Amino acid sequence: MLSKSKSVALLTAAAVSIITTSFLSLVEGVPLSGHLVVFILSFSSAYILTYFTVDVFIFGQIEKINERINKLRAEDFSFFEEDTQSIQGNPLLRINSEILTYAQTKQQEIDELKKAETFRREFIADISHELKTPIFAAQGFVHTLLDGAEKDKNVRHRFLKKAAKSLDALDRIVQDLLTISEVETGVAKMEMENFNINSLIMEVYGQFEGKPEVEDIDLRFTMDCPDSCFVFADRHRIFQVILNLVSNSIKYQKETNAVVEANLVEHEKDIEVIMKDNGIGIPEKHHKRIFERFYRIDKSRSKEKGGTGLGLSIVKHILEAHQSQISMKSKPNEGSEFRFKLPKGSPYNWSKE
Ligand code: ADP
Repeated sequence: MLSKSKSVALLTAAAVSIITTSFLSLVEGVPLSGHLVVFILSFSSAYILTYFTVDVFIFGQIEKINERINKLRAEDFSFFEEDTQSIQGNPLLRINSEILTYAQTKQQEIDELKKAETFRREFIADISHELKTPIFAAQGFVHTLLDGAEKDKNVRHRFLKKAAKSLDALDRIVQDLLTISEVETGVAKMEMENFNINSLIMEVYGQFEGKPEVEDIDLRFTMDCPDSCFVFADRHRIFQVILNLVSNSIKYQKETNAVVEANLVEHEKDIEVIMKDNGIGIPEKHHKRIFERFYRIDKSRSKEKGGTGLGLSIVKHILEAHQSQISMKSKPNEGSEFRFKLPKGSPYNWSKE
């Protein structure tokens, strides 16, 4: 069977050579051998030209388009990496290139949808798992009381305390989830204002005053701003960022000589906040995932200290809403350091202070 391009080339060559030879026969005195030469020459040149044009420029490109459509159907996007030739002035190449662009856009959409789907599935699984633990615990204590344990005054008090502790843990998870979702969805607009960040850090430290967990911890604060460091940010949210970081530094301390340190460094346009501790530190393999929701290194320690596994995720989300990023350095047994920057603010906004 002849290929399509060969058949088209044969028909065109036959037509061109017949017409050329017929015209030649109108000229008197041309011998038969002359007719034959003209016929053969016009046939072969028309054949080669037509074959080349049809095969390379038309069928070749159509074949390529076909191939790409088949690959698209089979979700094989490997041809994205192929070289795209110059499409100037060639409509077929342009169609080819448009298919490529369309496929790329669609592939990006598919990838995003797949990511969102995995995220949604993981999120539901994580939440169910995290909520299950305190609910089951509280449920267990209440049912044991209802089944008769309430008659014993001592047991009643102990079980009610345990049930209340589980419900408090549940409340913390829900509050943290609400914060993440508010910040993530942008429901809670950042209320930007100028404020003095050194007094905010002192306020955070003040939250721990008199608490047994900070009894043996040296809470330090240094700053290199000439007077006070003013930033332009959402005060309430930044309070939560620093509170989460300080409370982690306290939770994940070693037994002795514990130091938690806050440091403010002034740059040309920003104030850098550095929170350091000499606690148990974070092994390198966890560094990438530490800001994910519900990611914990030591689940039992985190839960025992009232952690929800959402603290650092909240920190990351709040800072992202301020167009800032948090960075971390940490070594097991040496301690951890978290840094982020906030835009410098003006000291003249006294009314907000
Ligand atoms: P959690 O409620 O468990 O503290 P976070 O999101 O605040 O959740 O922190 C995630 C995990 O990162 C913690 O469980 C802990 O293992 C680790 N981590 C966070 N901050 C520190 C720190 N300063 N020192 C050591 N480990 C930390």
